[in-house]
Amino acid sequence: MADIENDPVVVVGLGRFGTSLALELARRGTEVLAIDKRSKIVQSLSGRLTHIVAADATDIDTLRELGVAEFYRAVVAIGGDLEASILSTALLVELGIDDIWTKAVSRQHARILERIGAHHIVLPEQDMGERVAHLVSGRMLDYVEVDDNFALVKTRPPREIVGTPLGDTRLRSKHGVTVVCVKRPDEDFTYASADTVLEYGDVILVAGPIAKVERFAERA
Ligand code: ADP
Repeated sequence: MADIENDPVVVVGLGRFGTSLALELARRGTEVLAIDKRSKIVQSLSGRLTHIVAADATDIDTLRELGVAEFYRAVVAIGGDLEASILSTALLVELGIDDIWTKAVSRQHARILERIGAHHIVLPEQDMGERVAHLVSGRMLDYVEVDDNFALVKTRPPREIVGTPLGDTRLRSKHGVTVVCVKRPDEDFTYASADTVLEYGDVILVAGPIAKVERFAERA
């Protein structure tokens, strides 16, 4: 079985997103084959990435020569040039890459990429925009959407549950959410249990369906 964690990754497109992705993967010890058609960007990153080439990822012979077909995972990080994004993703599908991640710039772009066989679509700007909207408009300290209808929220405990053991608050039946972790001032996060009694000043991680965690966080 493939060692997914350490399998090398092809990164196509070294704009801001692709560059930070490739550098972070390399920092974490993952071997990266980075490809960009601009030789200037390739030159400027060559000291920081071991395998980096100036090449056109919309050319299947080039991809074959680079040995891309041997990789298990690839990320297409081309945003602006839709044609190049779609074509290079389609070629990676054709080469039989098992795990293809592609960056999309719009929902329509994402739909096309899905249809041609990308396994994961990332919409960095939209996702970050939505996340920041939650932080700006609500009382959340942090917000992560972990699935279409499920989120993890960092917030403060609402007054109604302070001082009562979590097991007695009937949070799940009343609000449809669960307090997963608690952080006391100047301490690390610990797992919450039925005996945990929250205090003012605590920070909690709450999990649940998006509308429910949002409503719950508004009570903080
Ligand atoms: P960001 O918004 O993350 O900066 P961009 O879309 O601006 O992303 O950057 C995409 C990168 O992909 C650019 O560096 C560009 O040179 C590269 N690129 C575009 N088309 C191709 C292609 N056909 N083959 C290889 N690299 C490409």
